[in-house]
Amino acid sequence: MRNSLWKSDIGNLLVLRNVDPETVADVLGNCPVITLELGQVLLRTGQINQSLYLILSGQLAVFLDYPEGVPVALLEQGETVGELSVIDDSPVAAFVVAQQETRVLEVDEKSFWRMISVSHAFACNMLLLLSDRLRSSDETILKNVRLRKRFQRDAMVDSLTGLYNRRWLDFQLPRLIGRHVQGGVPMCAIMFDIDHFKVFNDRYSHDIGDDVLAMVAKTTMLSIRPTDLSARYGGEEFVVLLAGVGIDLAWIVAERLRRAIESEKIVIEDGTELPSVTISLGIAEVRNDDSADSVLKRADTAMYRAKNTGRNRTCREQ
Ligand code: GH3
Ligand code: MG
Ligand code: MG
Repeated sequence: MRNSLWKSDIGNLLVLRNVDPETVADVLGNCPVITLELGQVLLRTGQINQSLYLILSGQLAVFLDYPEGVPVALLEQGETVGELSVIDDSPVAAFVVAQQETRVLEVDEKSFWRMISVSHAFACNMLLLLSDRLRSSDETILKNVRLRKRFQRDAMVDSLTGLYNRRWLDFQLPRLIGRHVQGGVPMCAIMFDIDHFKVFNDRYSHDIGDDVLAMVAKTTMLSIRPTDLSARYGGEEFVVLLAGVGIDLAWIVAERLRRAIESEKIVIEDGTELPSVTISLGIAEVRNDDSADSVLKRADTAMYRAKNTGRNRTCREQ
C-alpha cells in the first residue's frame, strides 16, 4: 500500500467488508488520505464532487442548508460520504463538516468504478449502503409529511372548539361561493353570536365561558348536516355555511340551532346548573355577484338586527 492505509483501517470500512485485500491495495493503494481539522468543510451544497470519501477515523456531520445548527446525520469511522454525486454525477446536496479531527480516504471516480467492476463484494456493500440511505430518507420524508399535515390542520382548525377557524373561512369561502354561483346551486351563510357573553364570563369565569364555547360548537355540529360547514369566526361569533339551501330553509335550520343552544343545559363541575346561553343569528343568501366579504357583511347586518330587536332570535337579510 502506497498510501499508508493500515490493516485496522480497512477492517473497519463497511464498504470494504469481504473485499479481497489485494484488490483493495491494487485499486485504492494510490488514493490519498486527507486529515480534516475540527470544523473543516469537506463538501458543500451545490459543489461538483468527483470523489467518494471513506471515513478512516473521526466523525463527519451532515447539514442540509447551512453548516450550523442540528445536523441531519453523523457519519462515523467505516462509513462513506459523497457516493451519490459520484454515482449520478449531480452536485452535492448537503454540507459535510468534520466534528473532530477526521481522516478520510479520497477515492476518485475512476478508482470507484474500477472497484465496482472488479469486486462483487464491494458492489454489494455499496448497494447495501445506498439502500440504508434510501430507507432513512424515506422515514424522514414520511415524518415530514405527517408533520406538514398536522401543521396544516392546526393552522385551519380552532383548538378550543374543533371547528374551522377564520383563516380557513377566508381561504375557502371565496372558492365555495364561486363553485355555487357557477353551478347555479343556492348557498346560505348564517352568522351568529352569543348573547351577553361578557356578562356570562364575568359572572362565571372565563374557563366556564370556554366550556360554553365548546358546547355551542358541538351543538352546532349536531344541528347541521355533515355536508354543511361551520367555523369560529371570532371570539364568540360563528359562521355556518349551508350548501344547496335557499334562505327559507336556512331560516328553519337557524331557528333549530337557536332552540338547541337555548335548551342546552350548562352544568359545572360541582353539579350546579347555570342559566343557559342564547344566540342571535343573521342569514344571507349568496348572490351571483357576491364576494366572501359582501355575503358575510349582509349576514352580520342581519345578526345585529336580531341583537337590536331583543336577542335570542334569527333575522334574515333585507
Ligand atoms: P352581545 O349580546 O351584544 O353580543 O354582548 P356580548 O357581551 O356577548 O358582546 P361583546 O362583544 O361585548 O363581548 C364578547 C365577549 O366574548 C367578550 C369576551 O369576554 C368573550 N369572549 C371572546 N372570546 C372568548 C373566548 O375565547 N373565551 C371566553 N371564555 N370568552 C370569550
Ligand atoms: Mg356576544
Ligand atoms: Mg361578539
